[in-house]
Amino acid sequence: MAIDRERLKARAIAEVEAHRQELVDLSLRIHDNPETGLQEHKASAWLCELLEKAGFQVERGICGLPTAFRAAAGQGAPRVAFLAEYDALPGAGHACGHNLIGVSAAAAALGARTALDSTGGSLVVIGTPAEEIVGGKVIMARQGAFDGLDVAMLTHPGSRNAVHSRALACASLEVEYFGREAHAAARPETGINALDALILAYNAIGALRQHIRDSARIHGVITDGGQAANVVPNHSAASFLVRAEDDAYLDELKSKVIACFEAGARGSGARLEYRWSENQFAAMRSNSTLAEAHKANLAAVGRQTHDQLSRHMGSTDMGNVSALAPAIHPTIAVAPPEVGIHSREFAACAASEDAQRGLLDAAKAMAMTAIDVLTDADLRRRIQEEFLASP
Ligand SMILES: [Zn+2]
Ligand SMILES: [Zn+2]
Repeated sequence: MAIDRERLKARAIAEVEAHRQELVDLSLRIHDNPETGLQEHKASAWLCELLEKAGFQVERGICGLPTAFRAAAGQGAPRVAFLAEYDALPGAGHACGHNLIGVSAAAAALGARTALDSTGGSLVVIGTPAEEIVGGKVIMARQGAFDGLDVAMLTHPGSRNAVHSRALACASLEVEYFGREAHAAARPETGINALDALILAYNAIGALRQHIRDSARIHGVITDGGQAANVVPNHSAASFLVRAEDDAYLDELKSKVIACFEAGARGSGARLEYRWSENQFAAMRSNSTLAEAHKANLAAVGRQTHDQLSRHMGSTDMGNVSALAPAIHPTIAVAPPEVGIHSREFAACAASEDAQRGLLDAAKAMAMTAIDVLTDADLRRRIQEEFLASP
């Protein structure tokens, strides 16, 4: 069986290689046509086309999201999913390199498909829009898009090769204060200052930060601070994000943050309205059994991984997938260590030759990991055991 598996892997790699130019061109075309969340019409159409041409059954516009899709091949269990992202950042193009994520997912599926006749089971590419601004996977998770999967994987470009990932749970908050307008010099005593309410709350949150866990984050911007210096502002608004390593601590922080905003209302007399986004990102639960299998496959394509527990954590809607199925969110190096994602420099790296090598290596390694999962019942059992045992 082991020899058989190696032969299947070699065939998957050859298939990815056979599509090399087409895959690279597609990643560059998506890079040159950046579309922000839920507007990824071209990218999603191009990825669907590629998969359909390769014999996948494609459903477009799933879960009520026009740019979400599902492309499937094979039948029944085990079910292996490659998740695709393809949204750009507002104003910053592909500064998160999602052009590479979408194409590497599709490419991995093309490669792994060559093994399906021998392995049985099925492969699915799930196109998940709007990772950056909405969290498409959160919406899709609620609608069952990730139910029944044996594993789910997505490779994100970055500045190092790593298989274990962490990401913070994240909740997004919109607040508004309503006060009363007045002439700021002639009749200030009749005014209620909505900006003061927000500044009091902002400072209260600053004080709260001393007393939260190291890895937690609270940050925000004022989106309305009044219109004219000689008018007491009757309205103010802000957007905040609250992040924590686990969902329970996130809930605790959320109520502390609201207490700060209530303090602003109380101190100023302005009325507070707030709304938490219903698309809350869950913390990423990386499946280390699956990650270790993937590590061996990355090594097989010549990539040593460097996993150190980083204190630099963001959040991703892949966290919500990891709560429903054993999942990994490995990183592939396409940029030098000093270049961070969401920068102009990283956007350039996402179209470089390093990016093209990264895309192909990520695809080959994911295809091989899929073949491991499809052919190794013991691996599947250990992955599942870890998934069920983790909190
Ligand atoms: Zn990003
Ligand atoms: Zn990203």
